[in-house]
Amino acid sequence: MPEDEEQPKKYRIEDLPGVGEATAEKLRENGYDDLMTLAVASPKDLSDLAGVAEGSAAKIIAAARKFADVGNFETGEEILERRKSVQKLTTGSKNLDALLGGGFETQAITEFFGEFGSGKTQIMHQAAVNATMPPEAGGFDSDVLMIDTENTFRPERIIQMSKAKNLDPDAVLKRIHVARAYNSHHQILLGERAAELAKEFPIRLLIVDSLTSHFRSEYLGRGSLAERQQLLNRHMHDLLRFSTIYNAVIAVTNQVSARPDVFFGDPTAPIGGNVVGHTATFRIYLRKSKGGKRIARLIDSPYLPEGETVIQISEEGITDGV
Ligand code: ADP
Ligand code: MG
Repeated sequence: MPEDEEQPKKYRIEDLPGVGEATAEKLRENGYDDLMTLAVASPKDLSDLAGVAEGSAAKIIAAARKFADVGNFETGEEILERRKSVQKLTTGSKNLDALLGGGFETQAITEFFGEFGSGKTQIMHQAAVNATMPPEAGGFDSDVLMIDTENTFRPERIIQMSKAKNLDPDAVLKRIHVARAYNSHHQILLGERAAELAKEFPIRLLIVDSLTSHFRSEYLGRGSLAERQQLLNRHMHDLLRFSTIYNAVIAVTNQVSARPDVFFGDPTAPIGGNVVGHTATFRIYLRKSKGGKRIARLIDSPYLPEGETVIQISEEGITDGV
């Protein structure tokens, strides 16, 4: 076929030396279903998850690195081209969209942090509803994957928000796939398995509410901090990888510690330290205000100025605060 001549040959994992059918099957079952995934795997993970000896795992990874189109250095022009595929999902509030440069961005992680009741879960519910809307309405016409660690997903709330947007609530509920994570390891596993669901449904929004609560309660004390941070780092990179492969929005929530740090003049600081701080592309701090009003402050963005805006939480969901 002449049109194939211009395309580089696509290798399958069976094409790698040392990967027979049985190994290929084991690798696929564990999510290592393409060369790129293998190329960036660690020998230890591969060995633990797919049951191949660590030495063989290292050889498979080395081969995958040779065969995979890992990409080389890109010019700014090329990156600009890739960024053209970035899309924006509306938050429901024009103010908040503007603060974020147009809404939640694909190929990135957006983190909302704030104290209990500051509206993090409401914003996640609204994002889920919005993602199902057509692009003309600021959505992706997509399904949603929600990893719920605190058992705070409420279909009743989705119904209210859907009605406010004149959407069919049943149709919206059908497109939101909720997975309850019982502990941090379960949460990590669900993050790894997200790709499987994405093969069946068009998932363009992945929510983790909350990103840090299990990690916080399970890894107490100084001694376990390094392990916690390492696992959190791995989890966040799984999420980031999903966001680039599927051109998806990753929206996560985070709590604040009760530590009396001075943090932008507020005695609260987000959990997760540098790992979360450096991996989240956008960080928004939520504060309670009068009534259903909340103040959202963008505190970290690669290219947007810091700023604040007001949003409103009501029965209709998230709207502008003014
Ligand atoms: P967080 O996740 O940050 O702890 P939530 O997102 O659960 O906080 O926000 C809870 C707040 O959202 C409640 O205190 C209430 O003010 C508001 N809220 C929740 N449901 C509704 C509703 N149906 N109508 C109006 N406001 C609501
Ligand atoms: Mg919550």
